[in-house]
Amino acid sequence: MAETKNKAGVPETLIEPIEMSSLDASFRNEIHSMPNGEELSACFACSTCTAACPIANQWKYKPHQLIRMIILGMRDEVLSSSEIWECLTCFQCQERCPQNVRVTDIFFDCKNLASERGDIPSSIVSLAKELLEKGQLYQVTADWEREDLELEPEVPGLSIEEVKSILKNTRTGKIAGDE
Ligand code: SF4
Ligand code: SF4
Repeated sequence: MAETKNKAGVPETLIEPIEMSSLDASFRNEIHSMPNGEELSACFACSTCTAACPIANQWKYKPHQLIRMIILGMRDEVLSSSEIWECLTCFQCQERCPQNVRVTDIFFDCKNLASERGDIPSSIVSLAKELLEKGQLYQVTADWEREDLELEPEVPGLSIEEVKSILKNTRTGKIAGDE
């Protein structure tokens, strides 16, 4: 897909011709056979999901286009897209879809498929490494600060070693460990 400008200067997305032989129908079937993909083929390209999305105007491929690309079988384009990782998981698209297409959850499935073939942004790998090394992504507020904020003085049951040991056996742990 390419971006151009019409006479009024408003960005307009044009669809470049799609090479039919490059389409992979097994991609659509794979997503469709997952629990989140049951309603995939009900999508009638109304773009409500894109209208609801708070960041779609920053994306090259909008949510309704990604769904259409999945239906068409554009495996490489979808799984290597940055958009699936930039999704805020706010579920606005999914909540508003008149056809009950699980847009957000399908993007989760796409991330899992992208991870399996190693298409993971370096920023996500860095987060996974942080999680593996420290057992948490964010520093827990110091005790004295918690007191100032009138929070419980200690976070109960936080066992960083346990988190690390569980993570080592997960795909996240393996990805971060391989880096
Ligand atoms: S809102 Fe639902 S039906 Fe409309 S384009 Fe998005 S996924 Fe398709
Ligand atoms: S869940 Fe993702 S794709 Fe859907 S509206 Fe939110 S940011 Fe956009």
